[in-house]
Amino acid sequence: MWWLFLTNPRRVTPISKWLVGALCYLLAWSVWATVLQGVRVHEAPDSTRIVFDTDGAAQYTVNVLENPHRVYVDLKGATPGVGFDPQSVIINGQRIQNLRGAKHAEYYRLVIETNGFLQPKSFTLTPTKPYGHRLVIDLYEPQPAKSLAPVQPASKNRDVVIAIDAGHGGDDPGAIGPKKVYEKKVVLQIARKVEKYVSAAPGLRGELIRTGDYYLSLEKRTELARKKRADLFVSIHADAFKQSTVTGASVYTLSDHGATSETAAWLAERENRADLLGGVGDVSLTDKDPVLAQVLLDLSMDGNRLQSISAGEVVLANLGRITKLHKRRVEQAAFIVLRSPDMPSMLIETGFISNPSEAKRLSQAEHQDKLARAIAQGIEQYMRENPPPGSLLAALRASPVDVQYTIVRGDTLSSIAQRYGISSKQLKQKNSLRSDRIKVGQKLMIPGA
Ligand SMILES: [Zn+2]
Repeated sequence: MWWLFLTNPRRVTPISKWLVGALCYLLAWSVWATVLQGVRVHEAPDSTRIVFDTDGAAQYTVNVLENPHRVYVDLKGATPGVGFDPQSVIINGQRIQNLRGAKHAEYYRLVIETNGFLQPKSFTLTPTKPYGHRLVIDLYEPQPAKSLAPVQPASKNRDVVIAIDAGHGGDDPGAIGPKKVYEKKVVLQIARKVEKYVSAAPGLRGELIRTGDYYLSLEKRTELARKKRADLFVSIHADAFKQSTVTGASVYTLSDHGATSETAAWLAERENRADLLGGVGDVSLTDKDPVLAQVLLDLSMDGNRLQSISAGEVVLANLGRITKLHKRRVEQAAFIVLRSPDMPSMLIETGFISNPSEAKRLSQAEHQDKLARAIAQGIEQYMRENPPPGSLLAALRASPVDVQYTIVRGDTLSSIAQRYGISSKQLKQKNSLRSDRIKVGQKLMIPGA
C-alpha cells in the first residue's frame, strides 16, 4: 500500500527519496507562495505605515539593522505580482529614504532604508471589502523617556478645548462619492476650517485629531482628545447611504440602546467598520479590564450623554441655517468613536456623499467654509452658555467683561453682532467704526454686558 511504501524506510529507494523530497518541496511552495499585489505608504505624525496587499495570509519576518539604518521584511515564498514595484511608491523622505525589493530563492525581501532607528510593529489583516489580505508594517519613532514632572494644574481662565476629528484616513477612504469624491479628504478639509474658526473665537481652542492622510483607530482618536484635555469631541464625516436620493446634514450622539432611525443604525454600522478597513492590528487595544471599563463607561456616561445631545442640538440648529438637514433632531446610534466617557461628544454628518449634487457641493471650498463656520458657531454658542469650570468662558459668564475678537475671512459686522447677541450699532459704537467695512485680522472689542 502507498502509505506503507512511504513509511517503511527499508523499501524507499534513493531515487524515490528524491522524488518524495521534491514533491514535499513543491507542495510546501504552493502552500506558502504568496503573490504580492500592491504596496503603499501612509505617513502619520509619530509613525510610517507600509501596507502590502497579498493574495493570502503572508508569512514573514521583520529585522532591524544598523549602519546604515534599515528594516528588512522577508516574506516567505512570496513572489511579486504584475506591476508590484516598491520603488515606484511615493515617499516623502521624512523617515524613509528608499524602498526596494528583491526576489530570493525562498523569500521576497523588502528593504526599507530609514533615516534613523524606527521601532517596527507588524500584523496581518484578514480580508475586509474592498481589501483582500494585508500585511501592515508600522515603523514608530522612538518615544522620548517620559518626564516625571508633576502634571501642571489647568491654568485659571483656560481656553475651552474642542477636539476636532476628521473621520477615516489612510487605508480607510470612508464613503466614495461620484467623480471620486473621497470622504477622508473632504472631512479633513472641513475639519481644518472648523479648527480655524473655533480658535478664532475668544476663550476657545480647536485641536485637530487627524492632521493628514493616515488612519487612527477609533479608540486612539478619543485617547488623543483626552491627552489634549478636550472639553468636547466632534467627529466630522460626510457619508453614504444605499439610496443616492438621501441628502442633508445630521448630528449624532452615542446610544447604547439601539438607534433612533434606520439611517442612524446603518451609518453607525458603516462608521464602526472603519477599524477593519483602516487596519488596527490588535482588536483588544485597551489595557483596562473590560468589565471594569464598561462599569466606568456606564457611570460617567449619563451626564455626558445629556450634554452631548444639547450641544448637538445647537450645532444642528446652526447647520440648518446654511444647508438642508437630513433629520431635524439629534439622532442616536452606537458609534464606537463616541465612546469617550469623560467628555461630551458628537458625530456630524455634513451631508451625503452618495448624492451626486451634494458630493459636488461637499468638495467645494465655499460650501465647506459655510459648514465649518456653522459648526464652529454652534460649538461656541453652546460653550458660552455652558462653560466648563475654570475656563475663560466661565469667568466671562460670571462677570461679563469685554473680549477681543479677530476677524476671519467671511465675517461681516452683522454676523459678528448676531453671534454675540448684540446689535451692529453697539458693535460699531464700541469700536468707533464709521462704516461697516472690516478686514481679515482686524481686532474688535465685543462688549461684555
Ligand atoms: Zn464616515
